Amino acid sequence: LADRLQNTIQKIRGKGKVTEDDVKAMMRDVRLALLEADVNFKVVKDFVKRVNERAIGQEVMKSLTPGQQVIKVVKEELTELMGGEQSKIAVSSRPPTVIMMVGLQGAGKTTTSGKLANLLRKKYNRKPMLVAADIYRPAAIKQLETLGKQLGMPVFSLGDQVSPVEIAKQAIAKAKEEHHDYVLIDTAGRLHVDENLMTELSDIKDLTKPDEIFLVVDAMTGQDAVNVAQSFNEQLGLTGVVLTKLDGDTRGGAALSIRSVTNTPIKFVGMGEKLDALEAFHPERMASRILGMGDVLTLIEKAQANVDEEKAKELEKKIRSASFTLDDFLEQLGQVRNMGPLDEILKMLPGANKIKGMDNISIDEKQIGHVEAIIRSMTKTEKEQPEIINASRRKRIAKGSGTSIQEVNRLLKQFEDMKKMMKQMTNMGSRGPKGKKKG
Ligand code: GDP
Ligand code: MG
Repeated sequence: LADRLQNTIQKIRGKGKVTEDDVKAMMRDVRLALLEADVNFKVVKDFVKRVNERAIGQEVMKSLTPGQQVIKVVKEELTELMGGEQSKIAVSSRPPTVIMMVGLQGAGKTTTSGKLANLLRKKYNRKPMLVAADIYRPAAIKQLETLGKQLGMPVFSLGDQVSPVEIAKQAIAKAKEEHHDYVLIDTAGRLHVDENLMTELSDIKDLTKPDEIFLVVDAMTGQDAVNVAQSFNEQLGLTGVVLTKLDGDTRGGAALSIRSVTNTPIKFVGMGEKLDALEAFHPERMASRILGMGDVLTLIEKAQANVDEEKAKELEKKIRSASFTLDDFLEQLGQVRNMGPLDEILKMLPGANKIKGMDNISIDEKQIGHVEAIIRSMTKTEKEQPEIINASRRKRIAKGSGTSIQEVNRLLKQFEDMKKMMKQMTNMGSRGPKGKKKG
């Protein structure tokens, strides 16, 4: 999706004068891109209509930078499509807050229950309890118990001979007794939406009066995810959706349609199998990402979670101003490493997918030790002005660091590419309408 939209956007971005025909041509591409990304047909139609109305209207044609304005309208409408504001997780005034996790088999309910418990504890300082209410799938209880053990968090279970409704009931009583402020009920799934499942889930709902019912859906299933969301919503009344496996090769269409089809906000996205791979869903950032402006905010948030705040601010400033030296690179290396795989981090930088040689930038984690040694073998001036590093200096550095000239060359090339990428990002940031930014 991003690729296609980006080409279209590149075409219109710099235009000083945009005609009605330009807008129409662009919207044809946008429409195709969205349909190709498996976005619901009706959603696309409404979306294109809204953008057209605004883009062909006064707002855009009269502005100094109409190309920019059209993109801004598209971005705003995309954001709106995904729910506008970021939505928050409920807190009950009478604890425990009860959250029911529902969804089809394999969507990621059990994993997400663990991730969410982890997030509630880490980010909100809560004391969650997990409840094993999937008594049908073999080893489902065991799976949750294993997650609980990994997290050091209690898992309530009564085995697979007691009904899920009874399990939920006793779990809540126990949570009150032990002062747990969140109860996360991991329910059973089926391969398809079926009546027995819905009856059981309704029964749990009636008894536990959950504060949240989160539907967990697999983003890779595209349009199917939207249909699943629709039927669960009709039968149970969802309060939120968690879109999992967004780290996979997903076209992202589900994210765009779910909100408008079900009127249920996406609250979290699953970005991997690990227990910390759950992130709050930010419609605006997702829209930026789709439009290829990169997800700077998520990147910075990641940095903040792993690096102390001051350092993160510094990193942000340096990335934004593209005044990043090899010394900074060295210093950040260790910290950046804590954020996750480097190539994944780099992909979040704006325009990253447009840059030739992006593949060269991905750094083999095993090579990091070498990279550190190479940078340490440079003089202060060399670190600040790598362009002075000529052949004989390269030879000296390779020798000093116990690496090879090829490795030194590779690092310098990577660093140069990275700086280029950062520069491109800065340009994008300042390409907005002249003068003050207007909401
Ligand atoms: P359930 O049947 O709905 O409880 O699904 P599970 O929680 O057992 O998850 C099914 C599979 O999906 C497991 O292998 C998980 O590791 C995997 N999974 C869940 N969430 C994510 C995610 O966000 N990204 C990736 N890559 N895998 C996920
Ligand atoms: Mg499960």
